[in-house]
Amino acid sequence: MGDKKKNSAESDLMQKIVGLCKRRGFVFQSSEIYGGLKSAYDYGPLGVELKRNVMAEWWRSMVHEREDVVGLDASIIMSPKVWQASGHVGGFSDPLVDCKDCKTRFRADKAPVVEKGAEVKYRAQGKTVTGVANQPYVCPECGSPNLSEEREFNLLFKTNLGPVDTGDSTVYLRPETAQAMFVNFLNVQSTYRLKPPFGIAQQGKSFRNEITVEHFIFRSCEFEQMEMEYFCPPEEAPNWLDYWKQERFDWYVRLGCKKENLRLRAHEDDELAHYADGCYDVEYKYPWGWDELEGIANRTNYDLKKHQEASGKKLTYFDPVKINPETGKQGVHYLPYVIEPAAGATRTVLMFLLDAYDEEPPSEGRKDGRVVLRLHPRLAPIKVALLPLVKKDEWLTGKAREIVKDFLRNGINAFYDEKDAIGRRYARQDEAGTPFCITVDGQTKEDGTVTIRYRDDMRQDRIKLEEAVHIVTSKIRE
Ligand code: ATP
Repeated sequence: MGDKKKNSAESDLMQKIVGLCKRRGFVFQSSEIYGGLKSAYDYGPLGVELKRNVMAEWWRSMVHEREDVVGLDASIIMSPKVWQASGHVGGFSDPLVDCKDCKTRFRADKAPVVEKGAEVKYRAQGKTVTGVANQPYVCPECGSPNLSEEREFNLLFKTNLGPVDTGDSTVYLRPETAQAMFVNFLNVQSTYRLKPPFGIAQQGKSFRNEITVEHFIFRSCEFEQMEMEYFCPPEEAPNWLDYWKQERFDWYVRLGCKKENLRLRAHEDDELAHYADGCYDVEYKYPWGWDELEGIANRTNYDLKKHQEASGKKLTYFDPVKINPETGKQGVHYLPYVIEPAAGATRTVLMFLLDAYDEEPPSEGRKDGRVVLRLHPRLAPIKVALLPLVKKDEWLTGKAREIVKDFLRNGINAFYDEKDAIGRRYARQDEAGTPFCITVDGQTKEDGTVTIRYRDDMRQDRIKLEEAVHIVTSKIRE
């Protein structure tokens, strides 16, 4: 495919996803009736379920199904000293550049690269003009090399704690959840009597004043993270990095992400954070190309060391069994190394929507094509829709509502729909990603059976009413 054609197919898919999200109530622009707020999004009835399911699946595999990881739910606003010690106040910045032609503000490190001194053609005021690049990149919007100098822009959101802004009341909204795990390391370790290797996991909102917000919910200023800090003896860190990178890759595959759209990429030496000793990105093939989904890094003992220095509190773990190599005696105090799998929940939601999106053309026996979200049943916002075939038959509607209640009592999100012809109702559920539809009809009255329709292949089976909950539950757990 030519570049232009490829780009339009890419933006086409993104537009379809954005359209579907609004049409079906997954994601809305924030404050839409006031014209919207750039880079802020609201999750509607289906979106909130999908996001919660993604986060619940992460929690299940990272915390509940393991004995070596525990959870934490810390404040979003922490002492500003935390962010000074972690280096965020001084150094959490991106290089910002302004385009003098179209006035776009963008991140230099994400802009198209050109050879310094090269002649470049770009569009300005409707005309194609030529300019010389005096920086190694051009404006991502109009292609102009006519740019401001690069400035460092700090991504922390500032606010004040207390009623009066006294200057020293400045606090920050957390830009990552990780630091709370480091400063609570000993609290958690000692109260739970944990011995490395062990992990502390946390999910929640993080905030970054991003220079460029892009690709819908891929990069926004307020987003949700899922992070785990795995504390281990320093000599075990390389093995745990290998373990966690594979474990995290496999998690996406287990939840239905197509393997060919995922890859693990090791960071090049010049990409590595200065404190990191090895890092992998789980990358997804988004419509605009391979890009980050999650990072898995060996952060060494950098963070614990920094907080120990800045707070003056010892953050070492005492291992009573280990032999101290210097004294030859039993018992060693040491700062554990940390392996960190850091994922974005909202970015993962976008990934699963893109990966699950499918269009089927009309076929023999079916005159309409369909749009279907092939979400894993565990992620699907609605698990089962109950559809009485005829709206006017009170026995059918009453029975369908009864079954809905039965599902809800069993913790399965069920949805009742009697509006429009059955084909339209199926189509709505296909777009919402609902894996099962159950239709109650005249035969139900006679023999107590219903029709179950499977989203992916549209197969229909006749099943006994009393087996419905069991069948759906076991398919979800598969
Ligand atoms: P990027 O290179 O895309 O800016 P990062 O390397 O700075 O990301 P981390 O600090 O490693 O990201 O954060 C861990 C994860 O949090 C990312 O892999 C991503 O999924 C998510 N994330 C980070 N920034 C954002 C954002 N602005 N919007 C949505 N998700 C984000």
